[in-house]
Amino acid sequence: MKKKFIGANWKMNLLQSELEVLLLELSSISIQEDAPEFVIFPSQIYLSDCINRSNLSFGAQDIHSENFGAYTGAVSAEQVKSTGAKFVLVGHSERRSIFQESNTLIKNKVDAAVNASLELVFCCGESLDKRDAVTEKEFVLSQLKEGILHLSAEKISTCVIAYEPIWAIGTGKVANSQQIEEMHTFIRETRVHQYGAEIANSIRIIYGGSCTPSNAREIFSLNNVDGGLIGGASLNFESMTTLLNSF
Ligand code: PEP
Repeated sequence: MKKKFIGANWKMNLLQSELEVLLLELSSISIQEDAPEFVIFPSQIYLSDCINRSNLSFGAQDIHSENFGAYTGAVSAEQVKSTGAKFVLVGHSERRSIFQESNTLIKNKVDAAVNASLELVFCCGESLDKRDAVTEKEFVLSQLKEGILHLSAEKISTCVIAYEPIWAIGTGKVANSQQIEEMHTFIRETRVHQYGAEIANSIRIIYGGSCTPSNAREIFSLNNVDGGLIGGASLNFESMTTLLNSF
């Protein structure tokens, strides 16, 4: 059976001293055989330190699409891989909106990640406008088609797809069960079409957007929901432990 997945997206939060405390607490959790795969995405500056201090899994919040060169301030997939990190987030809505990342750039980052043998958490999700216009499925499908669906069956089967409606991220407005289940089922079924049932069922599709200890159990019990990507609630040890135990 595929393992559930929980990603903790710490975004641009935590000073070194705060991170050390949270990391120590989280590292003390005893991970059971049937526990979800738990991956923390700290700021890039702390990535190596986290890997050296803890036996948890880590990923980068972003990469550049090129491997090396004159790109001041940027970090490449190869560099991330060389720290011992396993994962990378690509296509997060904050990267798409604040940093104006296009589907083409995101596709190039996907390729850079795959070439460096990093595992991907590919984020997609619609704005409130798109949902109000009932075009959310077409929109998410276009993000997937232009960003990740060029990958071979072998490569895509190791990817995690995070469905994160933009209107639910950091807003406290969680998508309802029907909205989540409909979108996850749509993503799964369209993948069956492209890759066949075995590969499509091996892809983990997780939900992100104001997921908290109070709503996680209901969300994680839905059909085709294989876990969650957690922002705000991942910065607190107690809520993170509850989230990890919400399956
Ligand atoms: C996110 O940024 O991926 C996210 C899900 O954030 P939050 O949980 O704070 O809505």
